[in-house]
Amino acid sequence: MAQQAHSHSDRRADMLSVEQALARIISFVPVLPAETKPILDALGQVLAEDIVSPINIPPWDNTGMDGYAVRSQDIASASSGSPRILKVIGVIAAGQMPDKQIEPGTAIRIMTGAPIPPGADAVVAFEETDEVERKAAGKALHEIAIRKAERARANVRPAGEDVRRGEVVLAKGTLLSAAVVGVLASVGRATVQVIRRPVVAILSTGDELQQPGEPLGEGRIYDANGASIAASVLKAGGVPKLLGIARDSLADVNAKISEGLQADLLLTSAGVSTGDYDFVKDVLAQRGSIEFWSVRMRPAKPLAFGLLKSPAGGTVPHVGLPGNPVSALVAFEQLVRPAILKMHGRTQFARPVVEATLEDDIENYDGRRVYARVLVTKRDGVFYARSTGPQGSNVLTPLSRANGLAICPEDVPALRRGQRAQVQLLDMPEGGVV
Ligand code: AMP
Ligand code: MG
Repeated sequence: MAQQAHSHSDRRADMLSVEQALARIISFVPVLPAETKPILDALGQVLAEDIVSPINIPPWDNTGMDGYAVRSQDIASASSGSPRILKVIGVIAAGQMPDKQIEPGTAIRIMTGAPIPPGADAVVAFEETDEVERKAAGKALHEIAIRKAERARANVRPAGEDVRRGEVVLAKGTLLSAAVVGVLASVGRATVQVIRRPVVAILSTGDELQQPGEPLGEGRIYDANGASIAASVLKAGGVPKLLGIARDSLADVNAKISEGLQADLLLTSAGVSTGDYDFVKDVLAQRGSIEFWSVRMRPAKPLAFGLLKSPAGGTVPHVGLPGNPVSALVAFEQLVRPAILKMHGRTQFARPVVEATLEDDIENYDGRRVYARVLVTKRDGVFYARSTGPQGSNVLTPLSRANGLAICPEDVPALRRGQRAQVQLLDMPEGGVV
């Protein structure tokens, strides 16, 4: 017993915490340089320039209603019982500039978005006039009865209300959402400078692996990690470059890794657990500086990280993910996704976390941080987290049903049903957690 406890704590001392591993990886990945792109292609990227508006938006005072542009003082006593009759001297549609001035006793018919003519200071909506009755009676709109005393500025949208000329409308570092793309368009930009997306090379390793789409050979399994890691890279805003499968041979691993050295980041999976596949380590160590870490987490304890020498004379960061499909994805989630986010200029790396009541126990056998695959639901304002199935790191389908990872801290031997736990929310379904 005493012996076991001793070796246990020794092993723990060698292990990095998730935070330590993440800090090291993050410190070695750069923020990438900017590129210029059409605004729509830059959706999901981060601005590399401040956007200064060359114009006012709106450019001039304009009407927020279809109605009549008037002098508010002319209609100060108008009411439905005692309407004020004004002479209609013209019409302005959106896109037209006024060519007449409003004189006392006159009005101009005006459509939403059209500029307010000089002399006018308010707009009266059609509904507050007798326009409908006049039209129904077949009368021409030479004059109009105003039934409401609108005050000065009523229904007038002021010039520069949204954006002022010379103002920084979007700061460097802003993530391009649909609305941000809209703001860029509204100030007249067709292209924009954004931080480029990282190209992430992905290599699966193992003699047992086979590409999906082919009949499964004896002793083989399909390569799940290539697809799931590539999908995770896409979701994190990177550009996956699939290198396929390297066989467990020095020559093949060397050749495939060479193809990955053009990328901004290289991810491999498998071959990082103890012993059997040391030659993968050898290849990596020969070609750069590689460290093998034990990270104090479950799943995904074994992890490799290093910098590989690139032919261009620089280095390419490399993360060697574990082979088990759940381990690969949980390690990606905790340690690689933040690195990809940093590379393309993002500054918020953490997933949203909620506190949820557990509907199943989480066991922690050996003092690591456990990430349990759970489905988070919300009932009567309370979050609940239910296990989505067997928690082995080789069992992938429970992760496919999960929307969260419930955390049992390193020093907590178990969290029981009914206890509260922190849960990282993964891909949020439309409408949030329900
Ligand atoms: P290894 O780290 O090479 O010992 O792999 C650990 C486990 O993960 C083994 O059971 C492998 O068969 C499995 N594995 C490795 N790579 C993949 C992959 N790309 N897709 C599915 N399972 C994998
Ligand atoms: Mg293997």
